Amino acid sequence: MKDCIFCKVVRGEIPSARVYEDENIIAFLDIAPVHKGHTLVIAKEHYETIMELPDRLLQELAVAVKRVSRAVMRATNAGGISLSLANHGIAGQTVPHAHFHVMPRFEGDGLRHWPQGKYAEGEMKEYSEKIKASME
Ligand code: 5GP
Ligand code: ZN
Repeated sequence: MKDCIFCKVVRGEIPSARVYEDENIIAFLDIAPVHKGHTLVIAKEHYETIMELPDRLLQELAVAVKRVSRAVMRATNAGGISLSLANHGIAGQTVPHAHFHVMPRFEGDGLRHWPQGKYAEGEMKEYSEKIKASME
């Protein structure tokens, strides 16, 4: 896609620090890392969110995320890895080309989980049924 930042990265029009590339996937360092080594993994072809990605490509992306996660963990001596993928602006997506964040984690790094809520009586059943009925 012409004006997409990550498509420009794929085409080499924006420089990037690449850590992995194959026929359909690239991984490169995030320019503003939560910790050094924070890597983005994308399909070369433009799809806005995970929900549009064809299954075959998503499978390749997932396998690349696994390999990159192992490499980032080893290279940065991290104690763990957090994965994140925001879909649409309301969820925090700022670049509309689907991308996994692979983030090394360290003891006491202060990053927190999202706030956790509660279900009222019967609501878990209600939500699980609504979601089940919406599966395609
Ligand atoms: P999002 O907020 O959509 O989940 O993540 C977008 C990420 O892309 C951000 O973490 C941001 O730092 C990174 N980013 C934005 N522009 C560039 C760029 O030109 N090069 C690289 N390497 N990362 C970028
Ligand atoms: Zn794109």
